[in-house]
Amino acid sequence: MARIVQKFGGTSVADVDRIKNAALKVKAAVDRGQEVAVVVSAMSGVTNSLIELTQKMGPLPDGREYDAVISTGESTNAGLMALALQALGIPARSWAGWQIPIHTDGVHGKARITGIDTAEMEKCLKAGEVAVVAGFQGLGPNNRITTLGRGGSDLTAVALAGALKADQCDIFTDVDGVYTSDPRIVPKARKLDKVTYEEMLEMASLGSKVLQTRSVELAMNHKVRVQVLSSFEDKPGTFIVSEDEVVEKQIVSGISHSRDEAKITLLRVADRPGVAASIFGPLSDAAINVDMIVQNVSEDGKATDLTFTVGRADLDAAVKVLTDNKANIAYEKMSSDRGVAKISVVGVGMRSHAGVAQSMFKALAEKGINIQVISTSEIKISVLVAEEYTELAVRSLHTVYGLDAA
Ligand code: ASP
Ligand code: MG
Repeated sequence: MARIVQKFGGTSVADVDRIKNAALKVKAAVDRGQEVAVVVSAMSGVTNSLIELTQKMGPLPDGREYDAVISTGESTNAGLMALALQALGIPARSWAGWQIPIHTDGVHGKARITGIDTAEMEKCLKAGEVAVVAGFQGLGPNNRITTLGRGGSDLTAVALAGALKADQCDIFTDVDGVYTSDPRIVPKARKLDKVTYEEMLEMASLGSKVLQTRSVELAMNHKVRVQVLSSFEDKPGTFIVSEDEVVEKQIVSGISHSRDEAKITLLRVADRPGVAASIFGPLSDAAINVDMIVQNVSEDGKATDLTFTVGRADLDAAVKVLTDNKANIAYEKMSSDRGVAKISVVGVGMRSHAGVAQSMFKALAEKGINIQVISTSEIKISVLVAEEYTELAVRSLHTVYGLDAA
């Protein structure tokens, strides 16, 4: 018998009617004879409101209580979804993260899953009961509730699909699939039928908000077949698959952008071995991800200027870490800028085709867009530009790489 995980994002379970609508998608799977585990997000907007509440209690909330509060949106919806299914005559029960349990480490606010005990849930699934799981939450050390980072319900769904050896993980959302670019910015963007894990990983980490990045990583590592589809329509979405399943490889599959970026520059850092470690070590200890990095040796060769990017939400924390470690790093000055965006072209075909970067630089130059930082991987080229050029850059590149819909 086929087993499926169905995950419903915040807009798909935003109110009672939508939860009832989502329950019909679950019923359809049950009627097809599938064993179903459902993962739900909080109603859209609820997690943000809960975060605001914690902030009203003081400037830096205790991470453990922060998680206790912000995990409740998912708990509510798991119960409501189980009730909606029961009302349709389908046996169902809700599961909080700790009841399964989904074990995590103790990094509150962005915990990592360390293991899932599926034994109890297996029994229920085999007995024909739908398991409705609260996304985004887990059980950390000392019996504390943890959360998995923003968008973490995707991670719950993929991790569960892996642990339960599900045949497929359907991610229901408010868009009907993965597009060549953000359709709100590029009206000529096209829906992709298939995209590879690697491309999706790049696109997700580059700010295409369809799937949480870590969930794509996990799907790739555990070969979980993922489909992104709309909960408001009845048609296939985009499949996220391994490269050998994609026959016609595009050179460029998509153009992504991210405004969740901030740039930090350290001027005149002592140019000696160990200096990069002294900068990025403390940042990583503070669980701050650094993304693009450029280093320039200064004119006299004794010092180096270092520019790098962090998530915009992490900027204040990063600046604090670097200020606290100023003596050890030995830099002269630090500056930061929130007004930047990262634009990227992504495609597995880049591995075997030259000239992709050159077309990008040329297209941006023709529009008078200055490139501040460049970074590349095997299947991606990213540039950092002033935020006000985001739309222009994305649209121009979409056209240049022949992605515009006819
Ligand atoms: N509700 C959480 C968030 O808004 C998790 C999720 O929806 O995936 O980030
Ligand atoms: Mg989401």
